[in-house]
Amino acid sequence: MEIRNYINGHFIDSLSKKNIEVKNPANQNVVGFIDEALDEEIDLAFAAAKNAFEKRVLQDMDAAHKSKIMRLIADKLRKYKNSSSIILSQENGKTIKQCEGEFDGAANVFDYYAGLTDKIENKLIPSGKDSFNYTILEPYGVSLQIVPWNYPIALFARSVAVSLVVGNTIVIKPPELCPISSNIFGKIFSEVQMPNGILNIVHGYGDKTGKKLVDHKSVNQVVFTGSPEVASEILKKTADRIIPCHLELGGKSAAIIYPDANIDQAVESTIKGIFKPNAGQICVAMSRAIVHHKVKDEYITKLNQKTKELNIGPGNDEKSDVTPLISKEQLQRVTNYCHSGVQSGANLITGGKQQEIHNGNFFKPTIFDNVDINSTIAREEIFGPVISIFNFENEEEAIKIVNSTDYGLASGVFTSNDQKAKWTADRIEAGVIWHNDWFVDGVNLPGGGYKKSGYGRDGGIDSLYSYGQTKRVSKRLN
Ligand code: NAD
Repeated sequence: MEIRNYINGHFIDSLSKKNIEVKNPANQNVVGFIDEALDEEIDLAFAAAKNAFEKRVLQDMDAAHKSKIMRLIADKLRKYKNSSSIILSQENGKTIKQCEGEFDGAANVFDYYAGLTDKIENKLIPSGKDSFNYTILEPYGVSLQIVPWNYPIALFARSVAVSLVVGNTIVIKPPELCPISSNIFGKIFSEVQMPNGILNIVHGYGDKTGKKLVDHKSVNQVVFTGSPEVASEILKKTADRIIPCHLELGGKSAAIIYPDANIDQAVESTIKGIFKPNAGQICVAMSRAIVHHKVKDEYITKLNQKTKELNIGPGNDEKSDVTPLISKEQLQRVTNYCHSGVQSGANLITGGKQQEIHNGNFFKPTIFDNVDINSTIAREEIFGPVISIFNFENEEEAIKIVNSTDYGLASGVFTSNDQKAKWTADRIEAGVIWHNDWFVDGVNLPGGGYKKSGYGRDGGIDSLYSYGQTKRVSKRLN
C-alpha cells in the first residue's frame, strides 16, 4: 500500500522528510508509516487543485464521461476491497467484515452519484413578459476536506463523489490515526485516468497539517467531519475570509422506547446501535435510551443479557463483536467518562472499564441506568461502547430529555403506533429520525446535524446543494 502523498495525479516522494507512525489499536503493533505533508506538499496540492479548477476540467467534462469514470471508481473500490480492508482493519481496529462493508458502501456512493452527473435540472423562473431567468448549480472551487478516523473510507467517498458531480476540485486530509487505507483512492483515480489535480490527498496531524490546510489562501470551501471543538476553531479561522464551511460533527443520539414498542427489536437495535459496529465510535451511535417506566425493567434485563453474550476482540477475528477503541487516549477518555458517571450517581449495570487483551485498547460494553440528565455522561459525546438509560412517564418528558443536549444528529423512536412516531419525530431536534430500528440508511438518503452536530447535508440529492452555490442569469427581453 502507498505511504506517500498523492498530488496532481501522482504519489510523490516526501519533501518534508517526516512521517507518521500508524499503530494497530488491537495490540499497538506498528502497521506502517505515512509521509507527513507540510508546507511544500500543501502548496503543491492546492496549486494542482486550483489549476484543475481554473481550467474547468470537471465543469466542462462531458457528463456521460464523468459518470463512466465514477462507475469505474466504484468497480475498483470493489476490486480492491479485500486487500484494502485488511489494512483498514489493522489501522482502525474494526472487523475485516465491517471494513469490507465500508468499501462496498463507498463504491455504492460513487455509483449513485455517477447516476446524477446529467440529472441536475436547473430552474427556469417565470417573472413576467420582459425577462428570462434561469439558475445554475455551480461549484465553490477548491474544496478542502478533512476526515475523521472512525469511517475514513466512507466519509472520503461521500464528500469526494458529490464534489466530482458539482465540479469542486479537492484537497483532502485523511485522519492521522488511520491514513494508509485512504491512499487506495489515489491509486484508483490514476488507474481510471481521472485528470490530474482533481483529487489531492495530503497526510498529517490535525494540529499541524490540518491547521496549515485551513489557513491556505486557495481554500474556497471547507468540508469538515469531526468534533465540534475543531469545527469551531475552523469557523473562527475562516471567518475573515468568509469561506463556506460544511460541518458534519458529533452526536448524542437517543432512542425513545414507548411501552407499545417491540422490546426485543429495541434491544437488538441498541446492541447494533452502540456496541457492535466500531465499539460505539460512531457519530450516530445510540448513546442514550429513554425508556418508558412500564417497560424499562424488561428492556434492561434483555439488554444486559445480550450484552454479556458479546465477544470482545480484535478486528482480524471474525467472532469479535466489540473491537478496540482507536487509541490509548480514547481508552483513557472513555474510562474517565465512566468514572464520572459513577460519581454522578448513575447506576453502573455492566462494564465501565477496560478489557485487558494483548495491550489492545479494548473497553467493556457499558450500561448506565438512572442517569441524571444534567450529568456529564448524559450530555457529552463519549465515543465508545457506553449507553446511558433514562426513565420517562409521558411523551412530553421524553421529548424534553431527547432534546436536552447541545447535539442533534440522529435519534430513534420505538413504537407500534405510527401517529405517535410522527408526533415524536416532529418534535425531536435532529437531522435523522429512525423508527423501530437503528441505521435505516441508504446512499440516496440525506443526513446531517441540527444544533452543535453541524450543518449541510450529505447523501442523496440534497448533498449536491451543500457542495455548490446557485448562480442566477437574468435577461431583459426586448
Ligand atoms: P477530530 O475533530 O479530532 O479530527 C477530525 C479531523 O480533523 C482529523 O483528520 C484531524 O486530523 C483533523 N484536525 C484536528 N484538529 C484540527 C485543526 N485544528 N485544524 C484542522 N484539522 C484538524 O475528530 P476525530 O476524533 O477524528 O473524530 C471523532 C469526531 O467526529 C466525533 O465527534 C464524531 O461524532 C465526529 N464524526 C461525525 C460524523 C458525521 O457525519 N456527523 C461522522 C464521523 C465522525
